[in-house]
Amino acid sequence: MSLTQPATSPVLQAPEHNPFEAMLARFDLAAEKLALDDGLYQILTKPEREMKVSIPIKLDSGKVAVFDGWRVQHNSALGPCKGGIRYSPFVDVDEVRALAAWMTWKCAIVNVPFGGAKGGVLCNPRELSLAELERITRRYTTGIMDIIGPDRDVPAPDMYTNEQVMAWIMDTYSVHRREAHTGVVTGKPWGLGGSMGRKAATGRGLLSMVREAASEMKLDLASSSVVIQGSGNVGGTIATLLDEIGVRVKALSDIDGGMVNEKGLDVKAVLAHIEENGSLEGFEGGDRCSNEELLMLPCEVLIPAASENQITSHNAGGLNCRIIVEGANGPTTARADAILDAKEIFVIPDILANAGGVVVSYFEWVQDRMGYFWEESDVNDRLVLIMRKAFQQVLQRTKDSGVNMRTGAYMEGISRVAAVTSMRGLYP
Ligand code: NAD
Repeated sequence: MSLTQPATSPVLQAPEHNPFEAMLARFDLAAEKLALDDGLYQILTKPEREMKVSIPIKLDSGKVAVFDGWRVQHNSALGPCKGGIRYSPFVDVDEVRALAAWMTWKCAIVNVPFGGAKGGVLCNPRELSLAELERITRRYTTGIMDIIGPDRDVPAPDMYTNEQVMAWIMDTYSVHRREAHTGVVTGKPWGLGGSMGRKAATGRGLLSMVREAASEMKLDLASSSVVIQGSGNVGGTIATLLDEIGVRVKALSDIDGGMVNEKGLDVKAVLAHIEENGSLEGFEGGDRCSNEELLMLPCEVLIPAASENQITSHNAGGLNCRIIVEGANGPTTARADAILDAKEIFVIPDILANAGGVVVSYFEWVQDRMGYFWEESDVNDRLVLIMRKAFQQVLQRTKDSGVNMRTGAYMEGISRVAAVTSMRGLYP
């Protein structure tokens, strides 16, 4: 059975750079394979709720600036909504919608009792002081406060947000509610209701996926090389974990470009350099390359771990890897999928590959509710079990239905949410 999509495929009709359209196009492929009921199709393709807020703050200069923010709740059939908050100079409502829908399928794939949501604030965090970021965060929190909460919608970190931002959200929410609500966000610092292992969870989940994919492709990781785009929470963590087990990390990048060393980068030194200087610029243990060039480097495993729309119909033909493990959300456009299939590149899609973060977010939420905190080894062991099981279930679906891993993952996620939606029925 050919895995290449026909020219009439909805995936090929989708606007290439609109992530929500790309999500819908892939949804259509999976819905067709599942013979999804039309009513369920309509329910599952529409976000349940979208909130837009204006965020006025005083800048350090004394001037007033107003930022746009969104919270989109895509689906809550499985439980409270769950999803990160992104600060970015490019974010828009369609990006947040797509990210929210991906959270719905992701939670279902790893069987955690959450729906999908996402938030975004249109700002450039690289140009804001810590005090300005705090004011933006607290004002955004009060804006979306009526729709979030431990049993409603639980935000977490995403691009350019971190443990500190989560602590501010938890504090602002708790001050207004006149009660301590640690469970209103996950990805909090340890000691403030955070979980051991949460910060590294997405990267640790990715490591499981790299191992499973290599085993499926009969690839020896010890003699393989890996290229990673992005060196933040996700990219930096997977680079560190691969380095720790002796896998050669050949290239890494940040928003300004990449660094490559055929013999393998000194990962610790690169990350320390970024930490100290805020950029890869000036690191001497490799050669500079652009982010575009980095994606074309010959390697066994490519891990995009930065932003959306990096692998497109324009560059997918030039990729030189055997496996792609998507650390980022939406790094591959829908049109590029067909090209990767034709090149027989084994793609572990975002909604499966980077689910480790939400799995440990779930553990954190459970620990907050119990008021009892687990050892890091418990967290990591349970995470690996869940990720491996999810991989095998998606792989089985893929083999049974003759589809690629992305469609298999969508089918797995959609069928679980559809089943629960049918069980709950329609109110009234
Ligand atoms: P981060 O802010 O910690 O790091 C982002 C990294 O990407 C930085 O190195 C940055 O310089 C680089 N970058 C940003 N824009 C880029 C561009 N256009 N080209 C190249 N590099 C670019 O963010 P993160 O938490 O590591 O998230 C990275 C990706 O992983 C995002 O797509 C995010 O949605 C996804 N993700 C994150 C988590 C999590 O737990 N943090 C979980 C699941 C998925």
